[in-house]
Amino acid sequence: MNFLEERIVKDGIVKEGNVLKVDSFLNHQMDIDLLDQMGAEFKRRFADKPINKILTIEASGIGIACVAAQHFHVPVVFAKKSQSINLDGEMYVAEVESFTHKCINHVIVSQKFLSPEDHVLIIDDFLANGCALQGLIQIVQSAGATVEGIGIAVEKGFQSGGRMIRNLGFQLESLAIVDGMDAETGEVQFRDQSKMGSSGSVVTEEGEICRSATLD
Ligand code: 5GP
Repeated sequence: MNFLEERIVKDGIVKEGNVLKVDSFLNHQMDIDLLDQMGAEFKRRFADKPINKILTIEASGIGIACVAAQHFHVPVVFAKKSQSINLDGEMYVAEVESFTHKCINHVIVSQKFLSPEDHVLIIDDFLANGCALQGLIQIVQSAGATVEGIGIAVEKGFQSGGRMIRNLGFQLESLAIVDGMDAETGEVQFRDQSKMGSSGSVVTEEGEICRSATLD
């Protein structure tokens, strides 16, 4: 097990409905030493990419992205979520469905902060069905910028997002891939990433449709 998997086993809580709570160290209270280790690992995995910007989404991606940015020495842009927007033509906007709030969020980035010269690393805390990531990818592409890679803390490998994103050809690096969890025993099974091919396509089950985005 790697450092993040060990921490999930120690402090993560498995809830009914295939929800993994990591709010004591990752996305509510944040263990900055852990985030720093994650940032170093993202830097190692994307060492050969000409990344000049990190893009994430509010709220829980921000802390992870900012600490990672200290290893890349690049600025962080976070996409804002809003249900009612005034489009003034100077924003890149994508639609993302919210699982918890049962509504469509607009994910917004000012055109000032993304341009065709940008080589972007997208970072987020969770990847489930990939809705949030698809929104961020769409925004980078609307700007004419390049997605150099995607760094995720926890991928839920039994949902469809990881396979879908890898099939699109993106370098997706998830520090922990959860292939199963049991709310009764609290047990979490991780994918052995040493067995993954470059496509990362060792997926256990058919995924669900794209629905979740904001369980923050
Ligand atoms: P997706 O858009 O990939 O379906 O879901 C990604 C978003 O859903 C993440 O940014 C995260 O906020 C939330 N999410 C999905 N599954 C979980 C989970 O098991 N635990 C937590 N804490 N958040 C989750």
